[in-house]
Amino acid sequence: KEKMITGITPSGEMTLGNYLGAIKRAVEFQDEYELYVFIANLHAITIPQDKEILRKNTKEIAALYFACGLDPQKSTVFLQSDVLEHAQLGWILNTQSSIGELSRMTQFKDKSSKTKAQSKDYIPAGLFTYPTLMAADILMYDAKFVPVGIDQKQHVELTRDLAIRVNNKYGTVFQIPEPLISKDKIKIMDLQDPTKKMSKSSTNQKAIIYMLDEPKVIEAKIKAAITDSENLIKYDPKNKPGVANLMTIYTTLKKITIKEAEKHWQGKNYKDLKDDVAAALIETLAPIQQRYKQLYNSSEVEQWLKDAAIKAQYEARKKLNKVQNALGLNYNR
Ligand code: ATP
Ligand code: MG
Repeated sequence: KEKMITGITPSGEMTLGNYLGAIKRAVEFQDEYELYVFIANLHAITIPQDKEILRKNTKEIAALYFACGLDPQKSTVFLQSDVLEHAQLGWILNTQSSIGELSRMTQFKDKSSKTKAQSKDYIPAGLFTYPTLMAADILMYDAKFVPVGIDQKQHVELTRDLAIRVNNKYGTVFQIPEPLISKDKIKIMDLQDPTKKMSKSSTNQKAIIYMLDEPKVIEAKIKAAITDSENLIKYDPKNKPGVANLMTIYTTLKKITIKEAEKHWQGKNYKDLKDDVAAALIETLAPIQQRYKQLYNSSEVEQWLKDAAIKAQYEARKKLNKVQNALGLNYNR
């Protein structure tokens, strides 16, 4: 089996976008690939975090991952900070990259301008070196495939550049990874501003379906979702982004095509559409939430994360030794 790695930043509560865009796919991949999934808490702290909230988000995301169907027997699901080698390899890769290439990363440009505006010109250095740590996460395990959204593609390309550079200079130590961007990759939009992506770090709670929202909350949020005044159910993301987004949510959950959905709603109005979407969401989320509650209150999750960390540490130690030897980072060999 080829290796695949994916991560999630515990920077907020998990959203429907995270589930449909990333986790559901990861669950589907775990039979086909040797899957590594890490909770990227070292990446989370590139932006200031409250320690209690970070801890809570980490625990919640871990339990939710398993509740969504990641199987600890099949996949290696661990905390990034439990494998110290990530930071060490990240440092080494910092020394192999240039200020110029890191400055060209669009995530750095976006996030640094945001933090700069919020906090008096303060740009955390970690935001700048985020991509080299991400490269370390990927190269550590010889991952062949990295499933990412368009937003992360540039980082995977930098990872490739760094891997090729190091291999050329010091002999082959890294497998060259590839970004895996599915052609039917969906993007769930904000319910109040359907031209922008639904994001867990967004501040408008009404605009986001969280994985742990109660049925009543889901109904209210969907009811209040922005549509348009046409009252015509048609898939037209450009002119009718709100309606299109609701249709995308429904068709993805129900595994049907847009055409089938349009037929289903022929002659119906937005109230019918919203009732159907809310019902489909509740139907999907209720069993996940139930399983989540069991897991959150048991000690199982922590044990699974610890076991996975031991396995990841073993792999990481081997890779780091190889890299350190290649670079002459040893006294006598
Ligand atoms: P943040 O606001 O902190 O960036 P986020 O919601 O964008 O949070 P990430 O941790 O950046 O979440 O991404 C986790 C995974 O979820 C990635 O694979 C990303 O492509 C996917 N993802 C995030 N938001 C959406 C969305 N609205 N629709 C589909 N996929 C999404
Ligand atoms: Mg994001």
